Amino acid sequence: MPPDRTGADSDGSASAQRSRRPYRAAAEFDALVIGLLRQSNAPLTAYEIARRARAHQCRISPTQVYRALHRLMAENAVERVELLAAYLPRHGEPRGFLVCRRCRSVMPFTLPALQAAARGLCRTTGFRPARILFESWGICRDCAQVPPPSIGGKALMLLIAAGAAIADGALPQSEAAACIFAIRPLSISLARR
Ligand SMILES: [Zn+2]
Repeated sequence: MPPDRTGADSDGSASAQRSRRPYRAAAEFDALVIGLLRQSNAPLTAYEIARRARAHQCRISPTQVYRALHRLMAENAVERVELLAAYLPRHGEPRGFLVCRRCRSVMPFTLPALQAAARGLCRTTGFRPARILFESWGICRDCAQVPPPSIGGKALMLLIAAGAAIADGALPQSEAAACIFAIRPLSISLARR
């Protein structure tokens, strides 16, 4: 007799009846995963899919999510954004992605000429690609309009400059301390980003 994986009683209670229910079929997992991906307006990682499923009272482990994603990718129903290790429903031909490293938004694009050029390159070089993908990691237009949050490099340079100035006797220690004090909250806020 197989072990009772739910830990339910064997007294005919509701929990015991649940334990006798057959395991969920792969098709059900696939439907659950593709449904969650379609509901999302952003690509989801396997762990995010498992978390969202739990929020809908559906138990699915990350391993089961990965298996479902593997099947769905084989059916061309899902595509993967490598830079984010995340998945989204596939529409038609494989696409390229512009991925924002700040807000993690993804802008899909299709450039048949790019695909054709890559295939041509593989033919000429004798390279056999398992998959051809085009992904760019950068800053989207919205994020580019916001002032850069990070001037950690500048703060570090100022700290070094203040230290050098003290060593040279060019800057009184009290003034350098004031300078470092002004920089510190900025450095802490940068560290938390
Ligand atoms: Zn962005």
